[in-house]
Amino acid sequence: LLPKAAPERCESHAAAQPEIVHLPERTTDLGSGFVVRRSLPTRGRRLVGPWCFFDLYGPLEFAKRKAMDVAPHPHIGLQTVSWLFAGEAIHHDSLGCTATARPGELNLMTAGRGIAHSEETPPQNSGRLHGVQLWVALPDAERHREPGFDHYTDLPVLEPGGGRAQVFMGNLGDARSGTRAFSPMVGADVHVGGHGVLRLPLETSWEHALVVIEGEVMLDGVRLTPGGLHYLGTGRAGLELSAERPAHALLIGGAPFDTAIVMWWNFVARTAEEIQLARENWQQRRVFGEVTAYQGTRLEAPPLEGRPVARR
Ligand code: MN
Repeated sequence: LLPKAAPERCESHAAAQPEIVHLPERTTDLGSGFVVRRSLPTRGRRLVGPWCFFDLYGPLEFAKRKAMDVAPHPHIGLQTVSWLFAGEAIHHDSLGCTATARPGELNLMTAGRGIAHSEETPPQNSGRLHGVQLWVALPDAERHREPGFDHYTDLPVLEPGGGRAQVFMGNLGDARSGTRAFSPMVGADVHVGGHGVLRLPLETSWEHALVVIEGEVMLDGVRLTPGGLHYLGTGRAGLELSAERPAHALLIGGAPFDTAIVMWWNFVARTAEEIQLARENWQQRRVFGEVTAYQGTRLEAPPLEGRPVARR
């Protein structure tokens, strides 16, 4: 058994053909009772294209308490993709950027060599929260780039009949999100209408996965339900989705990632030494900067134990 805090080496193990493999989720408390359901990384699968992290939270309804309150913490080597189905989350970072994510609007933070941010429920809120936090691993040539933050309000929708898909990262067929991306990928919010078949074009060489948020979706005669991730393999020119009642899912995918990554805490790197340096930089208040807009104390890095070990 590895120590819980050991860095984890993650390799792409893209299937060579279409398949449907269900991978269960696990729940994690991010603090103050904010519970997320994590589908990536998981036992048996660490990456789907460049996607290396998939947290789903809610639906929550709340009155007085602050549903989300993730204090300032650092990131390297990745992009954070904050996408909501209901409610609001306000982002502050060490570049001084502030933006509120809402349904249909994307908060996209490119960590590159290092950035710190907080994410929380804003004081003015709807009392609801439902959404995902996803991470995209940056390729070697881009992972040391200057950090940046982007907020997008105008994202394309594909409506071929039988439902709709809104593309928030990369492209789905000819529908291009136009959002900042550094490797071939797709991230799309999919509503299957409950009548007819929703046909979505895919890149044949990419691997894909579907996470059902609500309802049940039929694919290749298989009923896909909420809870965990359905890995779809490669070699698909498209998806034919149907549902007896309106259903909601997220589609992620991309070209199989060609480099093994090392993940630990909020860092994506290539070696244990890089992880150790990033941790020290955060603890010593170097490189990442301060999130001055956040009212409260920042998160401290957990202790670092062990060495990265390849697991499949
Ligand atoms: Mn974060």
